[in-house]
Amino acid sequence: MAREKANSQKKKMTGKKAEAPAVEQKAAPVKETASVKETVPVKETAPVKETASVKEAAPVKETASVKEAAPVKEAAPEEKKEEAAPAKEAAPAKKAPSARKKAAAGEKEKKAAPAKKKAAPAKKKAAPVEEKPVLVEEAAPAVEEQPAPVEEAPVVEEVIAVESNLPRRSIAFIGSECHPFVKTGGLGDVMYALPRELARLNCDVRVILPRYACIPQEYQDKMVYRGEFYMDLGKTGRNYYVGIMEYIWDGVVYDFIDNQEFFSVGNPYTNLVDDIPKYCFFSKAALAALNYMNWIPDIVHCHDWQAGLVPVYLRTLFKDSPVGRAKSVLTIHNLRFQGVYNIPTIQYWSGLPNEVFEMGALKQNWVDANMLKGGLAYADRITTVSGTYAWEIQTREYGEGLEEHLRYHSGKLRGIVNGIDYGMWNPETDSALAENYGLGNVLEHKMANKLALQRELGLEEDTGKFVIGLISRLTNQKGLDLVNAIIPQVLDGNTQVVVLGTGDKQYEDAFRYYEGAHKGTFSACIQYDEARAHRIYAGADALLVPSRFEPCGLTQLNAMHYGTLPIVRETGGLKDTVEPYNDFTGDGNGFTFDRYDAGLLLDAINRAKTLYFNNRYHWDEVVQRDMAKDVSWENSAKQYKQMYLELTQW
Ligand code: ADP
Repeated sequence: MAREKANSQKKKMTGKKAEAPAVEQKAAPVKETASVKETVPVKETAPVKETASVKEAAPVKETASVKEAAPVKEAAPEEKKEEAAPAKEAAPAKKAPSARKKAAAGEKEKKAAPAKKKAAPAKKKAAPVEEKPVLVEEAAPAVEEQPAPVEEAPVVEEVIAVESNLPRRSIAFIGSECHPFVKTGGLGDVMYALPRELARLNCDVRVILPRYACIPQEYQDKMVYRGEFYMDLGKTGRNYYVGIMEYIWDGVVYDFIDNQEFFSVGNPYTNLVDDIPKYCFFSKAALAALNYMNWIPDIVHCHDWQAGLVPVYLRTLFKDSPVGRAKSVLTIHNLRFQGVYNIPTIQYWSGLPNEVFEMGALKQNWVDANMLKGGLAYADRITTVSGTYAWEIQTREYGEGLEEHLRYHSGKLRGIVNGIDYGMWNPETDSALAENYGLGNVLEHKMANKLALQRELGLEEDTGKFVIGLISRLTNQKGLDLVNAIIPQVLDGNTQVVVLGTGDKQYEDAFRYYEGAHKGTFSACIQYDEARAHRIYAGADALLVPSRFEPCGLTQLNAMHYGTLPIVRETGGLKDTVEPYNDFTGDGNGFTFDRYDAGLLLDAINRAKTLYFNNRYHWDEVVQRDMAKDVSWENSAKQYKQMYLELTQW
């Protein structure tokens, strides 16, 4: 996956690491440490001589290599290449005629407005870091916007009915993907479903996203020009065009930050050389856009490393601007991806003051800056997508190097498990299925879906076979080496396996091999296909999710909702959402194993088969129990709302 690739590339791409005066490190007394249980002070040790010469920071943007771009699952193929122009002139909006005119190269400087003049202070204050808290006291607003009303804002159609007596709160979601505009994984699902659910809970939600060129044309066509301004960025000495394109849908306002220089490549994630500047720009532009629109949220809710700098900007450069009054929440969807690069480069692009490049905030390993780590230090609350993952990431095994930092901030960390969108995932209305079904008639109709799936995939058509599905990114995270190791034992003549996914070549090839070797019983669909995924959830008997780690996991939730029993490893959200079947009491939702071990996975599959073949009555009971289980967003959204209210008690 792109994010994974990009992160792993970091070491190769580091720019020059300049020599600089030694900087003593100290613990990071970041605020909000209340009720820290296992507080682990951030390292005071390592008398490593630090490097920090900003002058020598090599702006790496132009070296972008686009070939590594990962496929975007829901992206329109259309890529607009004509504006490749690297760091010369800010590119104007393509879809906004008036913007295009105004932003034409010649006029740009005129509009550059106070931003240019005022953003400077951070630059000048490059003084060596003193031994003091990382919270910056004297930062100036980086962007000064003209008043917003460039064009008439569209009227919000309140399609979603508010079903809550809780006090109203306004929330700005800031993240890098959102279904159906752009999605590469679970983050896209959450950015779609949670705002809609929050709208029902009396929240005024605005979702701020990059306007990637890969957003399907049907949505590009619906966007309305909302305004534009110019913003300085870091130490580039330039002013960058920020267009705002708006789309209002089901009570949620989507504001797309437009700048073709950063967002014209087809895929959201390419490599860190491009992605670091891109998400520095995006994080800053998102806050500047809120000020510009004069829409000041109570809460800024940021997602993953791509928006990790938002809480840092909020408490430094934007502290004295209107949006500076907002509280911030940062949600970790997957800790593996953190946005790490050498300090000079991130200083160059972000323009953040030196104080934030301390061990308590962005600095890590004495030479690198970690955008997610900085966000975690500055956010008022940290959430992750399940309670177990919230605990796991504080351990060395799952902490991805941030376990100490997370333990230090554990007082503001909590887990809220994801849900699934019942509009998108509903076997009663799902148009992709051969036959629709609900809780009352699942037992009859699931067999029809199984037969249709077998036919579609060229498997032996036999409802008596036990069909196991696997729908996943094919990466190291997902436990596929365990699956590979046991396929021959699983295929016992009564079992069929269907894999749907794309990713690492080694797994793609292994599954293709099994398909060739076991024609009629093993199907490898090496593709991203939403509709087929729905048919597998409906037609399979069980779904495998043997992940090495799994922050929440959505596939097990989808499966349960479609009456397909999950077989999962007890980690992260899998542990929180799948109760193991108990042979004695008949309780439970699926089959589980704990240690990361192929033998234990095989054992769990065999337990599932045993129940299926020997005790269908009880199997069917679990099918119905799973379909009846509430895996909607409603409960999770209430917990988010509760947290917003806790943060904004006025
Ligand atoms: P992650 O975010 O780590 O990829 P999740 O389980 O949280 O995993 O979310 C995966 C989502 O993507 C699910 O909705 C799943 O159905 C979908 N998905 C994964 N792979 C495919 C694929 N090849 N085709 C269609 N949908 C897929």
